[in-house]
Amino acid sequence: MKRTVSILVCAVWVGITGTLASAVVPRPKIVVCLVVDQMRWDYLYRFYDRYGDGGFKRLLTDGFSCDQTLISYAPTVTGCGHASIFTGATPAVHGIVGNDWPDFEKGYSVNCVGDENVSSVGTESKYGKASPRNLLTTTVGDELKIATNFRSKVVGISIKDRAAILPAGHTADAAFWFDKTNNCFITSTYYMDELPEWVQSFNNRKIPQKYLKQGWNTLYPVASYVQSTADDMPYESRFANERRPVFPHRLVDSVTGFDVGISNTPFGNNLVLAFAKEAIQAYQLGTHGDTDLLTVSLSSPDAIGHRFGPNSIEIEDNYLRLDKELEAFFAYLDQTFGEGDYLFFITADHGASQSPGYLAANKLPFGFLNEKYLLDSIQNVIRSEYGLDSVIAANANQQLYLNDKAISRLTVSKDEIADRIVMLLMESPGITDAFVTRKLGSATLAEPIKTMMINGYHLKRGGDIVYSVQSGWKWGSISGASHSHWNAYDAHIPLIWMGWGVQPGKTNRLVHNTDIAATLASLLHIQMPSGNVGSVIYELTDH
Ligand code: ZN
Ligand code: ZN
Repeated sequence: MKRTVSILVCAVWVGITGTLASAVVPRPKIVVCLVVDQMRWDYLYRFYDRYGDGGFKRLLTDGFSCDQTLISYAPTVTGCGHASIFTGATPAVHGIVGNDWPDFEKGYSVNCVGDENVSSVGTESKYGKASPRNLLTTTVGDELKIATNFRSKVVGISIKDRAAILPAGHTADAAFWFDKTNNCFITSTYYMDELPEWVQSFNNRKIPQKYLKQGWNTLYPVASYVQSTADDMPYESRFANERRPVFPHRLVDSVTGFDVGISNTPFGNNLVLAFAKEAIQAYQLGTHGDTDLLTVSLSSPDAIGHRFGPNSIEIEDNYLRLDKELEAFFAYLDQTFGEGDYLFFITADHGASQSPGYLAANKLPFGFLNEKYLLDSIQNVIRSEYGLDSVIAANANQQLYLNDKAISRLTVSKDEIADRIVMLLMESPGITDAFVTRKLGSATLAEPIKTMMINGYHLKRGGDIVYSVQSGWKWGSISGASHSHWNAYDAHIPLIWMGWGVQPGKTNRLVHNTDIAATLASLLHIQMPSGNVGSVIYELTDH
């Protein structure tokens, strides 16, 4: 009965919001955006039977799920994901072409949020030298601020710098990220000159150290984790202080002081969500008449997935624990803002492939790319054919950057060298396609790969040649897992909306992560971000 009434109330309210038959622009008190780093879409259902009613199941029951949400570009990595979700743009437009990319003027690879013109705040380390200045377009938070004459507050929080900074945008009131060198949340002078008192006192509570001391055992008896492989598999990586990748994981060594870092454990999620609650209180978000925006990104699932792989008990345990954390977080949001008075969505910056070892053990297609071997073989041919050393200046984000200076000394054109390297790449095992980036438009390449590659290429920051990798192939070793490719395992992500203005339901229409910002802008009646290329998910807004 309660559900029926709340749906009815919701329907009436949405009717009002849809027609704007209201004295003021209807908006929620706050938008809370949760990005779970490396969350594959299938985790919603693989672990469904063991989720409680108040976490992921509540999202699927009370929320609106866009079940076919794909990333619209490659490479599918963290920086691109966080930038695209909140700008509605692709790397081609917002300019975040990877977590880092080579900058030949500077002579080194730049971090996507690295900024030499700002200083760390809250740490002696260099991890605070970061800002959103490399992001070339506005975010939905920037547009919300413009729409309310900057009365709205926007705050970004994560363990990773890029996952706090890029979602919050240029005009954010604050972004905080975690420095593993001092186990503290920090920021940069882009935002403020010193840490607020509440952040200092949060840091002083030394919460990470408490979690680490407790160690990491499974939430339930280990034998009950029937959705995962056995605990000790040869294709799992391990913590540096352990001999085998098995529970219970010892996270800190009291003698040597070695700790694995809270970001590598599910407790990183607890830490970030606890910090997010304090930020809500400290900034009094959602309490002053104008809509505020809080972006929270959970980085730990990415670290756990990379180390142990998507089919590990560690990943299952991470999601069962996160489910409980989400339940508590929703209860907090209900209590603070009122159920239905806040808008919430959850998504991911990318998914992940299975470990090559897992694929091999189960007769699934897999393989390894050896970067040194691949680049050396190309280099050797170019040297013997053209007498040119160091032809490849960098290999980043599945793009090769050619050495312009060296090539300019030759009598042959750069085009000829690039075409030759493309041929060599295509002959290499594990490479399915390779193209000169400027000629991608005319490439014989199946969709959506072609469009994804074009969307991932930025003229000034991109390379000269782009390539794609065979399904199941991974750089490096048999152990652990990774992401960055166009394939569904990396590109298919959850997207569920819940709360203010959202009617429960789902769609299987194909939507993209670049549609999130436009949809949010529509719900909030604000301008789309400046580089937006996405479309409104109308199943969510038009009812
Ligand atoms: Zn990520
Ligand atoms: Zn990752």
